[in-house]
Amino acid sequence: MKHDDCLFCKIIEGEIPSAKVYEDDHVYAFMDISQVTTGHTLVIPKVHTRDIYETPADVAGELFARVPKIAQAIKEAYNPVGMNLLNNNEIMAGQSVFHLHIHIIPRYSDEDGFDAKWITRNDEFSMEELKEIAEKISSSIN
Ligand code: 5GP
Ligand code: ZN
Repeated sequence: MKHDDCLFCKIIEGEIPSAKVYEDDHVYAFMDISQVTTGHTLVIPKVHTRDIYETPADVAGELFARVPKIAQAIKEAYNPVGMNLLNNNEIMAGQSVFHLHIHIIPRYSDEDGFDAKWITRNDEFSMEELKEIAEKISSSIN
């Protein structure tokens, strides 16, 4: 299960030190070394899985099942005014460590260091076009 050249597998094994927040049989949660905001936490499955595409449903289920209580704990500890969850897949989307992870990023203000803006362009798609896109995706779900 452990991947030899994986930084996060080494963190789980304790070969690389980390500031642990939570651990059980399925997940490990720790402080991101570069805190986008104070309390920025990474939650990872103990089973090595590269990204969301490679992740079996049971691993994803166990992983996400822990996220609410960790988010709640961050909220209690730091009293943020908001919280973003983020999962980057592939370099283009900002993935730099290829062991699946969920970022939990507490938010304190507009200028707290995190920015996840995108351009809303829903007026460019008719309902017909949206249904076409949905059909293309849904026909690939297996
Ligand atoms: P990604 O860019 O893949 O979504 O997120 C990887 C995260 O891992 C980055 O936010 C980065 O700061 C964090 N990171 C990289 N190396 C280490 C490390 O050695 N220890 C910890 N705790 N976090 C790390
Ligand atoms: Zn790994």
